[in-house]
Amino acid sequence: MSADASPPTPAEVSSPGSMLTRASSITRALDQVGDKWCLLIIQEVFWGINTFNGMLEATGVSRGVLSERLKWLQKIDCLRKAPDIKGRRGGEYHLTRKSIGLHATAMMAIAWERRYFRTPTLDAVKLKHTPCGHVFTPSMRCRECDAAVDGRHVSYGPGVGATRDTRIKKVRRRSSISSSIVPSDRSIYRNLVDIVGDRWTANVIALAYHGYSRFYEFHRELPVATNILSDRLKVLEEQGVFGARAYQERPRRFEYYLTEKGWDLFPYFLTLLQWGDQWCDEENKGRPMSLEHSLCGSPLYGVVRCDHCDEKLEPYSVDITLN
Ligand SMILES: [Zn+2]
Ligand SMILES: [Zn+2]
Repeated sequence: MSADASPPTPAEVSSPGSMLTRASSITRALDQVGDKWCLLIIQEVFWGINTFNGMLEATGVSRGVLSERLKWLQKIDCLRKAPDIKGRRGGEYHLTRKSIGLHATAMMAIAWERRYFRTPTLDAVKLKHTPCGHVFTPSMRCRECDAAVDGRHVSYGPGVGATRDTRIKKVRRRSSISSSIVPSDRSIYRNLVDIVGDRWTANVIALAYHGYSRFYEFHRELPVATNILSDRLKVLEEQGVFGARAYQERPRRFEYYLTEKGWDLFPYFLTLLQWGDQWCDEENKGRPMSLEHSLCGSPLYGVVRCDHCDEKLEPYSVDITLN
């Protein structure tokens, strides 16, 4: 893994409330849909819940927050509201081409959640691939060599659209509500949502894939307050996504490394990156980062396949049975 760890110079930092960081399609995607409630709402719409009240009931969110997030998701073109048509109730929210593009992300989220958590609800979930008729587990493979994608076999370089993005310091507070109390039993990757649905936690994981491991390195790359960063590193350790080892005794300092569970989240993050490349490149400059698969030497593009017939999973070729 190579990490281009050039931090922005002081002149590049435009204001105390913001910071210029290396553009990444993961951070662009997270800034658009990485919020916990956005992830939960999109998930419900994927499962066919598309009214305001339906979502209110399913997510347990307050009216104010739900309506604010629905506005946001429409603004970024991830939901569209059906107009009132005579004889038909309008006001339903539908997926767009952009949000349907998050289907691969949902597939990898389910795969990770089922690998690490056992609950009766989760065990009852069946994913059926309609073209082959089999129950399957989603599997991400390299488009070129077909090997299973593993984040340890990836190197990074600047892409044609390499630039710096302004990241705003002011963020929503971490929601004190854990996804474990979300009422909907369609919410099948709630542990992942708890981890990824927090902006800084997700950003720290993304940096770890690039080889960053120490507190000051994370802090240099992210416009985050030190107490919040400490808290998020603790959460990642408690969740078993990171391990920690001391690299210095006086004062005692730790470096963080990804566990198997953390590396297994890589395909999920890669789907987010690919989605960000396709949908969050507002200036149309091209990919800000290029990824290479070290096993085959080709640019890395992960394809999510059915592990039974090896076909690529298309959004409308998967049936989900929840119980
Ligand atoms: Zn490959
Ligand atoms: Zn299949």
